[in-house]
Amino acid sequence: MKLREALNLSPDEQKALQKDILEKAKNSDINAYIGFETSGEGVPVLIKDNIQVKNWSVTCGSKILQGYISPYDATVIEKLKVAGIAPTGRANMDEFAMGSTTESSCYGITKNPHDPSRVPGGSSGGSAAAVAAGIAVAALGSDTGGSIRQPAAYCGVVGFKPTYGKVSRYGLGAYASSLDQIGPITQDVEDAAVLYDIIAGHDSNDSTSANVEHISIAQNLDPEKKYTIAVVDNYIEEADSDVQAAYKKAIEALEANGHTIIHTTMSNTKYDIATYYIIATAEAATNLARYDGIRYGRRAADVKNIQDLYIKTRSEGFGEEVKRRILLGNFVLSSGYYDAYYLKAQKVRHLIRDEFNKIFEQADMILSPIAPSVAPKIGSSEDPLEMYKSDMYTIAINLVGLPAISLPIMKNNEGLPVGLQLIAKAFNEQPLFDAALNLEKTLNYR
Ligand code: GLN
Repeated sequence: MKLREALNLSPDEQKALQKDILEKAKNSDINAYIGFETSGEGVPVLIKDNIQVKNWSVTCGSKILQGYISPYDATVIEKLKVAGIAPTGRANMDEFAMGSTTESSCYGITKNPHDPSRVPGGSSGGSAAAVAAGIAVAALGSDTGGSIRQPAAYCGVVGFKPTYGKVSRYGLGAYASSLDQIGPITQDVEDAAVLYDIIAGHDSNDSTSANVEHISIAQNLDPEKKYTIAVVDNYIEEADSDVQAAYKKAIEALEANGHTIIHTTMSNTKYDIATYYIIATAEAATNLARYDGIRYGRRAADVKNIQDLYIKTRSEGFGEEVKRRILLGNFVLSSGYYDAYYLKAQKVRHLIRDEFNKIFEQADMILSPIAPSVAPKIGSSEDPLEMYKSDMYTIAINLVGLPAISLPIMKNNEGLPVGLQLIAKAFNEQPLFDAALNLEKTLNYR
C-alpha cells in the first residue's frame, strides 16, 4: 500500500497495517530491519538507525553506540508523529553512514531483494531494500554523498535528497555536517513528495536550517509541465551499458513528452571524488571525536587510565572503514597538510558549484546516472578506493547542496533495476518532482 493511501485509512486499519508490516518484516530474510520498535499509532514508516526516536536504541550501525537509548525525537520524527505517522522499525545501514553497500554494519549485510547475492547499496540500504521488498510502506534515509539515491536506484524505488538546509538535521547522527541531509525513500514519486512535505521546513534547533517557507510539492505536482533538461555528454562515458541504455531511454521519453533536451559538458567532475573524500573525512573525524566511551554507548572494560579508556573503546567500537576515515580526516586537517588538502578541497568545491550554476542558467535540471552500474555482488567492494569511485555521480550534488531525485528507469536483462537522477538548482525542487512523475508515468517501470 502507498503512503498516501495509508494516511487515509481509519486508525484501526492503520493499526492492522502496522501489525502486518512488522510481521512481514520479522519473517523476511534480507536483514533490512535491525529492530522492530514502534512509536505510537499511525501509518508505519521505517527509520534509518542514525535518526533519534525517543526511547529507541540508536546506534548508526556501530558497536560503539550499542546500549545507547535516544532521550529525544529528531525534528523529522516529531513532524512524522504530528502527521499521523508511527515510526516503526530500525533500518540497517553502513556504520556511521560511511559506505555504498550496507556491508559495514555491525548487524551484518542487508541483501538486495531483487537478487540476494547482491548488495542493496548504501548507506541507507536497509531503508531502500525494505521499501522494495514490500516490508515498509516508506522509509527515512540520509544522504551525505548518495546514500538515499544510490540504494534507491539499486533496489528500484524512489529516493529524494533535499536541498541542503531544507530538512532539519537536529537528531541525525552526524557524519559530515556540511553534506548530510535526511530524505524520503518511497515506492513512487508521489509518495516521496508527500513524505518530503511532512519533514521539510525551518528548524531553529539546526543552525544550518534554511529559513525559507516550504511550499507543498505534492499539492502542486504537475506531470504535464514542460522543462529544459540538460544532459552532460562526457559524464555518461564511464557508466556501463545498462546505465547508458537507461539514460538513452529516459532522454527519448522526456523528448517524446515535450521536454527540451540540451547537451552540455562538465570539466570539473574529475575532482569530485577527491574533494568529497577530503571534506567528508575531515568532518567525520571531527564529529566522531565525541565517541570516547564516556558520554555515549559502549565503554571498554579493564582499562588502566583515561587514555587507555579512549583508545580501547574506540579500537573495539569502530569498524575498519570508520577508522580509515578518521585517520584520513585527521591527516587532511593536521597542521602540515591543512592548506594542501582541506583548504584546497574547499576551493575546488566552489569551482564545482560554479560549473553546476552555469548549467542552471540554461536548464531547469540535469539528468544524470546515479552509479556506474547496477547493484554489485556482495563482497565485491572490498577495495575502498573502488568503492569510493562508484560514488562519482552522486557526491558533487552534496558538495554543492543541490536537490536530486532518484527514480527507477528500467530493468536490465538480469532483472536488476537501473535508476537515474534529476538534479536541480538549490531550493527549486518542484520541477524535479514534476519531471520525475512525468517519467514515472510514461516508463511504467512497475
Ligand atoms: N558512499 C559515500 C560515503 O561513503 C556516501 C555515503 C552517504 O551518503 N552517507 O561517504
